[in-house]
Amino acid sequence: LAQLFRPLDMLGMVYRTIRQGVLDMGAMFDLIDTPSEVVDAPGAQPLKVARGHVRFEDVRFAYEDGMPILKGIDLDVPAGKTLAVVGPSGAGKSTLARLMYRFYDLTGGRITIDGQDISQVTQASLRAAIGIVPQDTVLFNDTIGYNIAYGREGAGDDEIRTAARGAAIAGFIERQPDHYETRVGERGLKLSGGEKQRVAIARTLLKNPPVLILDEATSALDSRTEGEILDTLQAIEQGRTTIVIAHRLSTVVHADEIVVLEAGEVKERGTHAQLLRRNGLYAEMWNRQAQERAEETLAAE
Ligand code: ADP
Ligand code: MG
Repeated sequence: LAQLFRPLDMLGMVYRTIRQGVLDMGAMFDLIDTPSEVVDAPGAQPLKVARGHVRFEDVRFAYEDGMPILKGIDLDVPAGKTLAVVGPSGAGKSTLARLMYRFYDLTGGRITIDGQDISQVTQASLRAAIGIVPQDTVLFNDTIGYNIAYGREGAGDDEIRTAARGAAIAGFIERQPDHYETRVGERGLKLSGGEKQRVAIARTLLKNPPVLILDEATSALDSRTEGEILDTLQAIEQGRTTIVIAHRLSTVVHADEIVVLEAGEVKERGTHAQLLRRNGLYAEMWNRQAQERAEETLAAE
């Protein structure tokens, strides 16, 4: 199943192209039938997550030779804390997430979880420890219960219900004619963007990973729906090491540390308050977005 998570962006692209909101399993397997880029190191041991301390040490990466995308990134996310990564599109933010999931190997430096180099542990154990809520969630042409259970093979009905409650989508499901057996997709129930993200959150709750990555998890939503989802996301961040990737800064104010990434380099880091005082890139982005929010509010009146 880990294979299914590989080309998240490609799925996102196909999904946006098709715009039907649902891919069936067969189509999905065709799409991702690409050879694996990475292999387990000889004698790789399972990752042992004690607390979930994530570190990037001078991480360098290029998709193509001579075209560096990440140029020496240092990050330190203490266990249970939230790090936000912000910056313009193309800065390399999603690449950080892909490298943590080890879709690719680094060209330099290392990433560790609780002191273990992720290139030296089994991919299966690494991917079991990390949950990703992507920008666009792909649903299968199947029941809504199946779509949640996909977070963890062999989950029981009670666990699925608990996850749905945690993601604040249980009420919605119970109002459907067939409850958890309700089919979603072309000939079934159409879910809104916000409802789909709640399914993704329920999947993640079921997986219960010690390390969580939110990659623009709310950026496809309108600001009202985003507001409703943010509370749920902040609740699932509790007790997990979290990396929040965001373009919209309103979603990262609460982070323990914010890193501004631009052209593959960390340009600024600090808390929201520190970065505003610094009056640099972050403050500029914040002021511009605050103005946009004000204009939206005016336009809505
Ligand atoms: P962000 O998430 O900050 O918008 P990404 O990490 O997705 O940025 O991409 C960083 C850079 O890497 C971009 O210039 C993008 O075009 C490039 N890139 C992303 N994926 C690939 C790929 N599979 N092959 C080659 N270049 C890529
Ligand atoms: Mg991205």
